[in-house]
Amino acid sequence: MEALSDETHLRVVLEVILFWMRGNHKYLAGEPFSAYGFDSFTKLDEREIPVEYSSFKVSDLINFKRVVFKLQARDVESIARFLRDTIEELATVEVDKQCPRCESEGMRAFIGKHNGLLAYQCNVCGYSHYSDGSRVENGGLEFASEKQLRELGLI
Ligand SMILES: [Zn+2]
Repeated sequence: MEALSDETHLRVVLEVILFWMRGNHKYLAGEPFSAYGFDSFTKLDEREIPVEYSSFKVSDLINFKRVVFKLQARDVESIARFLRDTIEELATVEVDKQCPRCESEGMRAFIGKHNGLLAYQCNVCGYSHYSDGSRVENGGLEFASEKQLRELGLI
């Protein structure tokens, strides 16, 4: 990850993170990483991920490096959460919606793993619901592909 610079393209950022995760899979297989869905991240096809539409800013990268290197091995739970949040930010698009629970602006679009429905997840509190209003089951979401986002008219 030392190779990440401010000019790095977002797709490269995602590729570097996923490459690193795959290379360290044996360290990332157990808790707390499994609870943050790391297993599904290592199976992602980054070519399917519409990073061009991500709200991730290059300045976030500086924060990313600072947090990961500062935390080091002292706080594995925080690193797991931070990596998960970074990947989500890179791999999803933000939609102009208000969270029904905490009333924050801005939710991220996901797809239901089992029903294929569009779902929204709050940036702040993590609350998620399907576009038909129903509650999302635990671990029920996956990243939408570029094709799916196009079909849904989100990009
Ligand atoms: Zn919320």
